[in-house]
Amino acid sequence: MVKHCPRCGSTNVEWVLPQTWSKWRCRDCGYEGALIVEDGEMAEEIKKEWEKKHKA
Ligand SMILES: [Zn+2]
Repeated sequence: MVKHCPRCGSTNVEWVLPQTWSKWRCRDCGYEGALIVEDGEMAEEIKKEWEKKHKA
């Protein structure tokens, strides 16, 4: 299953494991947190919204 960043929709995410809980980090937007998107359609929507905001 492909993992997507919940903030920008990028697949350039890596799993980081601090002491007690797992979390994700996005190399594109700097997002860090436990939430990750596994739904490709949802990720497409997130990506569109992100690009809209950042290309304006
Ligand atoms: Zn991101």
